[in-house]
This record gives sequence, structure tokens and C-alpha cells, in this order.
Amino acid sequence: MTRKSGPRPRRVPQRTCVACRQEQGKRELVRIVRTVAGPVEVDPRGRKPGRGAYLCRNRACWEQALRRGTIEHALKTTLSPADRAALVAFAATMPLKSVVSTRAAEDSSGDSAVEIRDNELT
Ligand SMILES: [Zn+2]
Repeated sequence: MTRKSGPRPRRVPQRTCVACRQEQGKRELVRIVRTVAGPVEVDPRGRKPGRGAYLCRNRACWEQALRRGTIEHALKTTLSPADRAALVAFAATMPLKSVVSTRAAEDSSGDSAVEIRDNELT
């Protein structure tokens, strides 16, 4: 996949993973939100109000972000032990991927673009 310039369809909103800084379609990422009430939560649907940050569906990114405090930095907050524990638990459900395959939705067929690729070692 070349990432050269050129007109690429911008149908999918792009977000940047706070750990690896890779830009991906919003649906490829998991949103974490600092809710208005205060606690930080995983927001799988990406629609809770509050300040959000995005991470890949890749355990490495989660672990890195938790270890380095990237999430806290991005959300401008401090994780409570409970919030952190919840994020760690969620991170454990993320697939381990050595390579993040950027097969972004180049087709325009909407829903069928969702595709979790599980190539551990290629
Ligand atoms: Zn990432």
C-alpha cells in the first residue's frame, strides 16, 4: 500500500491512534472517552460526550499507551485506579498484532468495509 498523495476517498473519518500515531478509519480504532462526569471509559460506539482519544485494536498500542500515560495525556486527566484497571482489562481483549495492516476502506460499500484481520505472523 502506497501512501502517496492523490485523491483518496475521504468517506471515513480518520483518527489517529494516540500510541502509534497511525491514522486510521474511525471504525478501526477504539475510542476512549473522558466522560463529562469524570471517569474514563471505553466507548465502543464512539458517541459518548466527552473528550476522546483513539487507540488501535491492537494490544501493543493499548499496553504502550497505558504504560506511558499516553491516554492520560491525550485526555488531559489522571486515570483513577478503577479506570486504569478497566482499561487494562479491555486491553487484554484486544488482539495481538505484530503488524497493523492498513487496508483501509477503499471500497465505498459502507458496512462491508469492517474487517478484522488476524494475521499474527505473516
Ligand atoms: Zn496504534
